[in-house]
Amino acid sequence: MLVDAHCHLGDAAFDPDRAAVLARARAAGVGHIVVIGATLPETERAVALAGACPGLSATAGVHPHEARHWSPAAAARLKDLLTLPEVVALGETGLDYHYDHSPREAQRHAFEAQLALAAEVRKPVVVHAREADDDMAAMLRDAGTTVVLHSFSSGPGVFEAGMAIAAYFSFSGLITFKNWRMTDRLTACPPDRLLVETDGPYLAPVPHRGKRNEPAFVRAVAEALAGARGESIDRIGQRTTDNARRLFGPRLATTL
Ligand SMILES: [Zn+2]
Repeated sequence: MLVDAHCHLGDAAFDPDRAAVLARARAAGVGHIVVIGATLPETERAVALAGACPGLSATAGVHPHEARHWSPAAAARLKDLLTLPEVVALGETGLDYHYDHSPREAQRHAFEAQLALAAEVRKPVVVHAREADDDMAAMLRDAGTTVVLHSFSSGPGVFEAGMAIAAYFSFSGLITFKNWRMTDRLTACPPDRLLVETDGPYLAPVPHRGKRNEPAFVRAVAEALAGARGESIDRIGQRTTDNARRLFGPRLATTL
């Protein structure tokens, strides 16, 4: 069995055929999908999907792109949503200095507030990190809760900070691309901290590159990880599923 630890299943890209997407996931051996909330409206959709379908869990958070909209009202709504049993983590939150869709100061403020909120509600936090390595590494070291570094592709500073706080490393279709240069990360990551994800509808892995990404394709990510580590796909499936259950909790044992 495989767990897709990060998919934007509430995205409009899945509106025409979400049931078929779930059927293909099931057929590919995907037992559970963590449906990401990266804005308050996306979080509400993730919660509705998870509430209606076993085998789905939700996260609740505000993405760094949206950090300029962070407010006391947003924080209060997020806190309410985080008490729901189908919401297994806060996120995605973090820092993105590549696009800078929100001012960096606003990104740091919203990220810090969400780290504190996750610690308060005792749920893990799903982190997006792009081209913000120094600030990210410093803020991770002070995180008071379990961290998932999603679609991991950061430099050595963030890797070391993640290792120091025993973060989980979630790998996406990026590791199947020809230009992936960090095979050593795939082997250096402790076996009990590995996860696989699609980040659908974005970042479809080879051989699906350029198409809409969907949970069934997490198998291609798991195969690339297995190949890099010299382990069987079954072993990687078991490890990453065990890790997702330990991290996100017993709800991850329900299947599609
Ligand atoms: Zn995402």
